[in-house]
Amino acid sequence: MKRKIFFLTIISFIFIFSISLLIYAKDAKIEGENLNVRNGPGTEYDVITKVNPPEQYPVLEESGEWAKIDLGDKQGWIHQDYSSIIEDTEPSQESEKEVEDDLAESGSDNEISDNKEQGDNSTDPNTDAIENNKGIDNSLVGKKIALDPGHGGRDVGAIGDSGGFESNYTLKTAQVLREKLEAHGADVFLTRSNKQYVPLTSRTTHANLLQADVFLSIHYNSTPELPEVRGIDTYYLSERDHQLAEYVHGGIINETDMNDRGIEQRDLHVLRVNHRPSLLLELGFISNETEERNIQSRAYLEAMSRGILMGLEQYFR
Ligand SMILES: [Zn+2]
Repeated sequence: MKRKIFFLTIISFIFIFSISLLIYAKDAKIEGENLNVRNGPGTEYDVITKVNPPEQYPVLEESGEWAKIDLGDKQGWIHQDYSSIIEDTEPSQESEKEVEDDLAESGSDNEISDNKEQGDNSTDPNTDAIENNKGIDNSLVGKKIALDPGHGGRDVGAIGDSGGFESNYTLKTAQVLREKLEAHGADVFLTRSNKQYVPLTSRTTHANLLQADVFLSIHYNSTPELPEVRGIDTYYLSERDHQLAEYVHGGIINETDMNDRGIEQRDLHVLRVNHRPSLLLELGFISNETEERNIQSRAYLEAMSRGILMGLEQYFR
């Protein structure tokens, strides 16, 4: 009899332990400064407290874009755009570098959506304003956006400080950006979706044939002889695209705080043969150790994507 009770106790302990594991299987890593915690899943609910990075809280439940977190003394809801949801039990807690390599390896869309629950991150303290805008801005719905991940295949592009290839970074960036734009109703096309080589002319033919509303060619810069150089450049060619360049460039600078190297009119092939509104974005210097490390992080790519999204929304508004 005693033996039976002993086993029952052990089994209940295991049971309770696995339940608590299930409940606390996810953590929310706070990314937004002074992020509002509300007493319900929506901006219409009252703010009960604020949280800050790098705090981390167990996630109790999720509802749409909101996550209920356990603050110890109380519980409340945060917007997932300003936190990363980390799966404790997920065996694939691989480093960002590995994720990047995996993505480049397979070029598959599923890899991206697998990571979806990680949510967005924000560097913007003005979280309420964005939350409120979010629901009402439909300016991207049905817009055709062609994304051109620079280089690919035998053309690896620039080589980063760590030896990483520009062609892999541009592909991962385009995939994160696509996810963000699609979530806001855009029709997104990629000129390449894996490691293959795509000639410059077919990239633009693509955009012209699709009658894309905007074509964005994505690149990373490199000056190995000047490793301290960092920042973002945006290039446009046609005067028609000057405003587009200002909006998109401004959006990225706002969301990432990267060094602003400005916008410039430049006669680049992908812009010249493009009949659609188009930009070439140089999204940072992979010859700079910090900048290369930044772009290996999904949180960072999400901030950059959010900046591009905001710029496009302004453009189409
Ligand atoms: Zn390039």
